[in-house]
Amino acid sequence: MAHPKHESVRRRYDYRCGYCGVSEADTGGELTVDHYQPVSAGGSDEDNNLVYACIRCNLYKGDFFPDALDRAHGRRVLQPLHDDIPVHIHENAETQHLEPRSETGRFHIALLQLNRPALVEHRLRRRLSALLAAKQQLMEAENAQLHQIIAAQEAYVSLLQRMLGIPPEDTS
Ligand SMILES: [Zn+2]
Repeated sequence: MAHPKHESVRRRYDYRCGYCGVSEADTGGELTVDHYQPVSAGGSDEDNNLVYACIRCNLYKGDFFPDALDRAHGRRVLQPLHDDIPVHIHENAETQHLEPRSETGRFHIALLQLNRPALVEHRLRRRLSALLAAKQQLMEAENAQLHQIIAAQEAYVSLLQRMLGIPPEDTS
């Protein structure tokens, strides 16, 4: 059964998994509502504790919640809306693998298996489509520039034609 706050959580997370970023359109269906602090660990249904998550991330996160020792070592899951993710995680632009920048980042990537092959492929496709869109934009700009050059040349040609076609009596 869907969580009572399912709709508002969906909207708050823009229909994407807060942990790995895949969208409903990517996965072909609605995602799930995850309790950041699991109910089994005393987590509530407060908005702050609800994360829109894909089935995989939700599954891998499971009922993990850091104990005092984990916390002392920075072993916790990043909270998508409250943590500054780039401080902890960097996406390698060449390989599309997520690389840790902190112990928390390392733990987060490992627990949620954020370098699982299907996700890396997903990031690769997303990057490819961004590159293609940029290339398309560049080609459209070039095209517009060529049209301007052609228009200027046509104007010049018609000017020359007028000049060559001017009858002598008109200049008097
Ligand atoms: Zn996910």
